[in-house]
Amino acid sequence: AKSQGKNNIQVYENTLHQALIYERQIQKDLVVAIKNHQLKFHYQPIIDLKSKNIIGFEALTRWHHPTKGLISPSEFIPIAEQTDAIKLLDEQLLDTVGAQLQQWHQYTDKPYYISINISAHRFVDSKLIDDINQVIEKYHLEKGQIVVEVTEHILMENKAKARHLFHRLKLAGIRISLDDFGTGYSSLSYLHQLPFDILKIDRSFVTNITEHNQENPIINMIVALANTMKIDLVAEGVETPLQLETLSKMQCQFGQGYHFSKPLSAEDTLKLVKNGH
Ligand code: C2E
Ligand code: CA
Ligand code: CA
Ligand code: CA
Repeated sequence: AKSQGKNNIQVYENTLHQALIYERQIQKDLVVAIKNHQLKFHYQPIIDLKSKNIIGFEALTRWHHPTKGLISPSEFIPIAEQTDAIKLLDEQLLDTVGAQLQQWHQYTDKPYYISINISAHRFVDSKLIDDINQVIEKYHLEKGQIVVEVTEHILMENKAKARHLFHRLKLAGIRISLDDFGTGYSSLSYLHQLPFDILKIDRSFVTNITEHNQENPIINMIVALANTMKIDLVAEGVETPLQLETLSKMQCQFGQGYHFSKPLSAEDTLKLVKNGH
Protein backbone atom coordinates (compact mmCIF):
# COMPACT_ATOMS: atom_id res chain seq x y z
CA ALA A 1 0.00 0.00 0.00
CA LYS A 2 2.88 2.25 0.86
CA SER A 3 4.58 1.90 -2.53
CA GLN A 4 1.17 2.42 -4.16
CA GLY A 5 0.96 5.83 -2.47
CA LYS A 6 4.43 6.67 -3.63
CA ASN A 7 3.46 5.78 -7.19
CA ASN A 8 0.48 8.08 -6.97
CA ILE A 9 2.71 10.92 -5.92
CA GLN A 10 5.02 10.11 -8.80
CA VAL A 11 2.12 10.23 -11.27
CA TYR A 12 0.91 13.48 -9.78
CA GLU A 13 4.34 15.08 -10.06
CA ASN A 14 4.71 13.94 -13.65
CA THR A 15 1.35 15.43 -14.58
CA LEU A 16 2.23 18.66 -12.85
CA HIS A 17 5.56 18.72 -14.63
CA GLN A 18 3.90 18.18 -18.01
CA ALA A 19 1.35 20.92 -17.33
CA LEU A 20 4.22 23.27 -16.57
CA ILE A 21 6.07 22.36 -19.77
CA TYR A 22 2.84 22.82 -21.75
CA GLU A 23 2.24 26.24 -20.24
CA ARG A 24 5.82 27.38 -20.91
CA GLN A 25 5.55 26.24 -24.53
CA ILE A 26 2.22 28.04 -24.96
CA GLN A 27 3.69 31.16 -23.41
CA LYS A 28 6.64 31.11 -25.84
CA ASP A 29 4.40 30.49 -28.86
CA LEU A 30 2.03 33.21 -27.72
CA VAL A 31 4.73 35.87 -27.52
CA VAL A 32 5.85 35.00 -31.05
CA ALA A 33 2.27 34.94 -32.35
CA ILE A 34 1.48 38.36 -30.87
CA LYS A 35 4.69 39.87 -32.26
CA ASN A 36 3.82 38.48 -35.71
CA HIS A 37 0.24 39.77 -35.57
CA GLN A 38 -1.16 36.25 -35.70
CA LEU A 39 -3.94 36.84 -33.20
CA LYS A 40 -7.22 37.95 -34.78
CA PHE A 41 -10.04 40.05 -33.43
CA HIS A 42 -13.62 38.94 -33.87
CA TYR A 43 -16.74 41.01 -33.26
CA GLN A 44 -20.00 39.87 -31.69
CA PRO A 45 -23.08 42.02 -32.38
CA ILE A 46 -24.97 43.59 -29.47
CA ILE A 47 -28.66 43.92 -30.34
CA ASP A 48 -31.55 46.16 -29.40
CA LEU A 49 -34.07 43.49 -28.36
CA LYS A 50 -37.10 45.52 -29.51
CA SER A 51 -35.97 46.80 -32.91
CA LYS A 52 -33.47 43.96 -33.48
CA ASN A 53 -30.97 46.55 -34.67
CA ILE A 54 -27.29 46.19 -33.95
CA ILE A 55 -26.05 48.92 -31.60
CA GLY A 56 -22.47 47.80 -31.13
CA PHE A 57 -20.02 44.92 -31.01
CA GLU A 58 -17.81 43.25 -28.43
CA ALA A 59 -14.26 42.59 -29.63
CA LEU A 60 -13.04 39.09 -28.74
CA THR A 61 -9.53 37.87 -29.43
CA ARG A 62 -8.88 34.62 -31.30
CA TRP A 63 -5.70 32.61 -31.45
CA HIS A 64 -5.34 29.81 -33.92
CA HIS A 65 -2.28 27.89 -32.75
CA PRO A 66 -0.39 26.29 -35.68
CA THR A 67 -0.44 22.79 -34.17
CA LYS A 68 -2.77 22.92 -31.16
CA GLY A 69 -5.68 24.53 -33.02
CA LEU A 70 -7.98 27.17 -31.58
CA ILE A 71 -7.09 28.07 -28.00
CA SER A 72 -9.67 29.89 -25.86
CA PRO A 73 -8.91 33.45 -24.71
CA SER A 74 -9.89 32.34 -21.19
CA GLU A 75 -6.79 30.17 -21.44
CA PHE A 76 -4.28 32.38 -23.28
CA ILE A 77 -5.14 35.84 -21.92
CA PRO A 78 -4.05 34.92 -18.36
CA ILE A 79 -0.83 33.48 -19.85
CA ALA A 80 -0.23 36.63 -21.90
CA GLU A 81 -0.81 38.65 -18.73
CA GLN A 82 2.23 36.99 -17.17
CA THR A 83 4.50 38.71 -19.69
CA ASP A 84 4.79 42.06 -21.42
CA ALA A 85 3.20 40.48 -24.48
CA ILE A 86 -0.21 41.52 -23.15
CA LYS A 87 0.75 45.17 -23.65
CA LEU A 88 1.51 44.58 -27.30
CA LEU A 89 -1.74 42.66 -27.73
CA ASP A 90 -3.72 45.46 -26.08
CA GLU A 91 -2.08 48.00 -28.39
CA GLN A 92 -2.94 45.91 -31.46
CA LEU A 93 -6.51 45.47 -30.25
CA LEU A 94 -7.10 49.16 -29.62
CA ASP A 95 -5.59 50.24 -32.94
CA THR A 96 -7.46 47.55 -34.90
CA VAL A 97 -10.74 48.53 -33.25
CA GLY A 98 -10.16 52.17 -34.18
CA ALA A 99 -9.34 51.29 -37.80
CA GLN A 100 -12.40 49.04 -37.93
CA LEU A 101 -14.77 51.77 -36.74
CA GLN A 102 -13.34 54.21 -39.27
CA GLN A 103 -13.74 51.68 -42.07
CA TRP A 104 -17.37 50.94 -41.12
CA HIS A 105 -18.12 54.64 -41.15
CA GLN A 106 -17.49 54.66 -44.92
CA TYR A 107 -20.49 52.36 -45.34
CA THR A 108 -22.88 53.46 -42.62
CA ASP A 109 -23.91 56.46 -40.57
CA LYS A 110 -24.84 54.27 -37.63
CA PRO A 111 -22.73 55.19 -34.61
CA TYR A 112 -21.77 51.64 -33.68
CA TYR A 113 -19.55 51.17 -30.68
CA ILE A 114 -17.00 48.47 -30.00
CA SER A 115 -16.41 47.35 -26.46
CA ILE A 116 -13.06 45.93 -25.51
CA ASN A 117 -12.17 43.74 -22.56
CA ILE A 118 -9.60 45.37 -20.35
CA SER A 119 -6.92 43.31 -18.66
CA ALA A 120 -6.18 43.85 -14.99
CA HIS A 121 -2.76 45.45 -15.49
CA ARG A 122 -4.28 47.85 -17.99
CA PHE A 123 -6.97 49.23 -15.75
CA VAL A 124 -4.48 50.61 -13.26
CA ASP A 125 -2.25 52.01 -16.01
CA SER A 126 -3.01 55.68 -16.50
CA LYS A 127 -1.69 55.46 -20.09
CA LEU A 128 -4.93 53.71 -21.00
CA ILE A 129 -6.82 56.98 -21.34
CA ASP A 130 -4.11 58.59 -23.47
CA ASP A 131 -4.00 55.51 -25.68
CA ILE A 132 -7.77 55.50 -26.19
CA ASN A 133 -7.80 59.25 -26.86
CA GLN A 134 -5.01 58.85 -29.39
CA VAL A 135 -6.95 56.18 -31.27
CA ILE A 136 -10.11 58.32 -31.20
CA GLU A 137 -8.15 61.18 -32.73
CA LYS A 138 -6.21 59.08 -35.23
CA TYR A 139 -9.37 57.50 -36.67
CA HIS A 140 -11.70 60.49 -36.21
CA LEU A 141 -14.10 58.65 -33.89
CA GLU A 142 -16.77 59.86 -31.51
CA LYS A 143 -15.78 59.36 -27.86
CA GLY A 144 -18.68 57.04 -27.18
CA GLN A 145 -17.58 54.60 -29.87
CA ILE A 146 -15.01 52.89 -27.69
CA VAL A 147 -16.37 51.25 -24.57
CA VAL A 148 -14.24 49.51 -21.99
CA GLU A 149 -15.49 46.38 -20.25
CA VAL A 150 -14.20 45.63 -16.79
CA THR A 151 -15.01 42.90 -14.31
CA GLU A 152 -15.46 43.31 -10.62
CA HIS A 153 -12.38 41.14 -10.21
CA ILE A 154 -10.29 43.77 -12.00
CA LEU A 155 -11.67 46.59 -9.87
CA MET A 156 -10.84 44.63 -6.75
CA GLU A 157 -7.18 44.09 -7.58
CA ASN A 158 -6.16 47.63 -6.83
CA LYS A 159 -9.15 49.46 -5.48
CA ALA A 160 -7.73 52.95 -5.05
CA LYS A 161 -6.02 53.07 -8.44
CA ALA A 162 -8.96 51.49 -10.22
CA ARG A 163 -11.33 54.05 -8.75
CA HIS A 164 -9.05 56.91 -9.75
CA LEU A 165 -8.79 55.67 -13.34
CA PHE A 166 -12.53 55.03 -13.48
CA HIS A 167 -13.25 58.67 -12.75
CA ARG A 168 -10.64 59.86 -15.24
CA LEU A 169 -12.21 57.70 -17.95
CA LYS A 170 -15.60 59.20 -17.15
CA LEU A 171 -14.19 62.71 -17.34
CA ALA A 172 -12.66 61.85 -20.70
CA GLY A 173 -16.11 60.77 -21.96
CA ILE A 174 -15.22 57.11 -22.35
CA ARG A 175 -18.01 54.74 -21.42
CA ILE A 176 -17.46 51.89 -18.97
CA SER A 177 -19.30 48.59 -18.90
CA LEU A 178 -19.46 46.21 -15.93
CA ASP A 179 -18.98 42.69 -17.31
CA ASP A 180 -20.32 39.41 -15.85
CA PHE A 181 -22.66 41.35 -13.56
CA GLY A 182 -24.10 39.38 -10.69
CA THR A 183 -21.35 36.80 -10.36
CA GLY A 184 -19.04 38.66 -7.98
CA TYR A 185 -19.17 39.11 -4.27
CA SER A 186 -20.05 42.76 -4.10
CA SER A 187 -21.55 43.77 -7.43
CA LEU A 188 -24.16 45.92 -5.72
CA SER A 189 -21.67 47.86 -3.69
CA TYR A 190 -19.66 48.62 -6.85
CA LEU A 191 -22.74 49.95 -8.57
CA HIS A 192 -23.35 52.17 -5.63
CA GLN A 193 -19.86 53.65 -5.74
CA LEU A 194 -18.96 53.76 -9.43
CA PRO A 195 -21.23 55.25 -12.12
CA PHE A 196 -21.13 52.59 -14.84
CA ASP A 197 -22.71 53.33 -18.22
CA ILE A 198 -23.53 49.74 -19.13
CA LEU A 199 -24.23 46.55 -17.17
CA LYS A 200 -23.85 43.13 -18.69
CA ILE A 201 -25.98 40.47 -16.99
CA ASP A 202 -23.84 37.37 -16.74
CA ARG A 203 -24.67 34.49 -19.06
CA SER A 204 -25.41 32.18 -16.11
CA PHE A 205 -28.65 34.08 -15.35
CA VAL A 206 -29.75 33.99 -18.98
CA THR A 207 -28.97 30.26 -19.26
CA ASN A 208 -31.38 29.75 -16.37
CA ILE A 209 -34.29 30.94 -18.49
CA THR A 210 -35.86 27.66 -19.64
CA GLU A 211 -39.36 26.32 -20.28
CA HIS A 212 -39.38 24.94 -16.76
CA ASN A 213 -38.14 28.09 -15.20
CA GLN A 214 -40.03 31.17 -16.31
CA GLU A 215 -39.77 33.06 -13.04
CA ASN A 216 -36.61 35.12 -12.91
CA PRO A 217 -36.67 37.37 -9.87
CA ILE A 218 -32.95 38.17 -10.10
CA ILE A 219 -33.13 39.37 -13.69
CA ASN A 220 -36.26 41.34 -12.81
CA MET A 221 -34.36 43.02 -10.01
CA ILE A 222 -31.38 43.83 -12.25
CA VAL A 223 -33.68 45.35 -14.89
CA ALA A 224 -35.39 47.51 -12.29
CA LEU A 225 -32.05 48.56 -10.88
CA ALA A 226 -30.65 49.50 -14.30
CA ASN A 227 -33.78 51.47 -15.16
CA THR A 228 -33.74 53.39 -11.91
CA MET A 229 -30.05 54.17 -12.24
CA LYS A 230 -30.39 54.92 -15.97
CA ILE A 231 -27.75 52.39 -16.94
CA ASP A 232 -27.93 50.49 -20.25
CA LEU A 233 -28.45 46.79 -19.76
CA VAL A 234 -27.08 44.01 -21.97
CA ALA A 235 -27.99 40.36 -21.41
CA GLU A 236 -25.10 38.03 -22.29
CA GLY A 237 -25.39 34.56 -23.80
CA VAL A 238 -28.87 34.76 -25.34
CA GLU A 239 -29.13 31.41 -27.12
CA THR A 240 -32.83 30.60 -27.56
CA PRO A 241 -35.98 32.34 -28.82
CA LEU A 242 -37.55 31.74 -25.40
CA GLN A 243 -34.69 33.58 -23.69
CA LEU A 244 -35.01 36.48 -26.10
CA GLU A 245 -38.78 36.65 -25.62
CA THR A 246 -38.55 36.45 -21.84
CA LEU A 247 -35.86 39.12 -21.60
CA SER A 248 -37.79 41.34 -23.95
CA LYS A 249 -40.95 40.96 -21.84
CA MET A 250 -38.94 41.86 -18.76
CA GLN A 251 -37.94 45.11 -20.49
CA CYS A 252 -34.29 44.22 -20.81
CA GLN A 253 -33.11 46.57 -23.59
CA PHE A 254 -30.13 44.87 -25.20
CA GLY A 255 -28.76 41.39 -25.74
CA GLN A 256 -25.85 39.46 -27.14
CA GLY A 257 -25.49 35.77 -27.88
CA TYR A 258 -25.48 32.87 -30.31
CA HIS A 259 -29.21 33.34 -30.99
CA PHE A 260 -28.27 36.51 -32.86
CA SER A 261 -24.73 35.79 -33.93
CA LYS A 262 -21.47 34.22 -32.88
CA PRO A 263 -18.41 36.47 -32.80
CA LEU A 264 -17.61 37.19 -36.48
CA SER A 265 -14.39 37.70 -38.39
CA ALA A 266 -13.60 41.25 -39.51
CA GLU A 267 -14.68 40.38 -43.08
CA ASP A 268 -18.05 38.98 -42.01
CA THR A 269 -18.65 41.90 -39.68
CA LEU A 270 -18.01 44.31 -42.54
CA LYS A 271 -20.60 42.46 -44.64
CA LEU A 272 -23.16 42.95 -41.85
CA VAL A 273 -22.32 46.63 -41.58
CA LYS A 274 -22.54 47.10 -45.36
CA ASN A 275 -25.95 45.43 -45.36
CA GLY A 276 -27.16 48.13 -43.00
CA HIS A 277 -28.05 46.07 -39.95
P1 C2E B 1 -16.43 37.65 -21.75
O1 C2E B 1 -15.88 39.02 -21.79
O2 C2E B 1 -17.49 37.37 -20.73
O3 C2E B 1 -16.96 37.35 -23.23
C1 C2E B 1 -18.13 36.64 -23.55
C2 C2E B 1 -17.81 35.19 -23.93
O4 C2E B 1 -19.03 34.49 -24.16
C3 C2E B 1 -17.02 35.08 -25.23
O5 C2E B 1 -16.19 33.92 -25.12
C4 C2E B 1 -18.12 34.82 -26.26
O6 C2E B 1 -17.67 34.18 -27.44
C5 C2E B 1 -19.02 33.93 -25.45
N1 C2E B 1 -20.42 33.95 -25.92
C6 C2E B 1 -21.10 34.92 -26.57
N2 C2E B 1 -22.38 34.57 -26.80
C7 C2E B 1 -22.53 33.32 -26.27
C8 C2E B 1 -23.64 32.41 -26.17
O7 C2E B 1 -24.77 32.67 -26.62
N3 C2E B 1 -23.41 31.22 -25.54
C9 C2E B 1 -22.19 30.88 -25.04
N4 C2E B 1 -22.06 29.70 -24.45
N5 C2E B 1 -21.13 31.73 -25.10
C10 C2E B 1 -21.30 32.93 -25.70
P2 C2E B 1 -14.67 33.95 -25.60
O8 C2E B 1 -14.55 34.71 -26.87
O9 C2E B 1 -14.17 32.54 -25.57
O10 C2E B 1 -13.93 34.79 -24.48
C11 C2E B 1 -13.81 34.31 -23.16
C12 C2E B 1 -13.29 35.37 -22.23
O11 C2E B 1 -11.93 35.72 -22.57
C13 C2E B 1 -14.08 36.68 -22.31
O12 C2E B 1 -15.24 36.58 -21.53
C14 C2E B 1 -13.06 37.66 -21.77
O13 C2E B 1 -13.05 37.65 -20.37
C15 C2E B 1 -11.74 37.08 -22.27
N6 C2E B 1 -11.30 37.82 -23.49
C16 C2E B 1 -11.62 37.61 -24.79
N7 C2E B 1 -10.99 38.48 -25.60
C17 C2E B 1 -10.23 39.28 -24.80
C18 C2E B 1 -9.33 40.39 -25.02
O14 C2E B 1 -9.10 40.85 -26.15
N8 C2E B 1 -8.73 40.95 -23.92
C19 C2E B 1 -8.99 40.48 -22.66
N9 C2E B 1 -8.38 41.09 -21.62
N10 C2E B 1 -9.83 39.46 -22.40
C20 C2E B 1 -10.44 38.86 -23.45
CA1 CA C 1 -16.69 41.01 -21.96
CA1 CA D 1 -19.12 38.58 -19.87
CA1 CA E 1 -16.17 36.51 -18.36
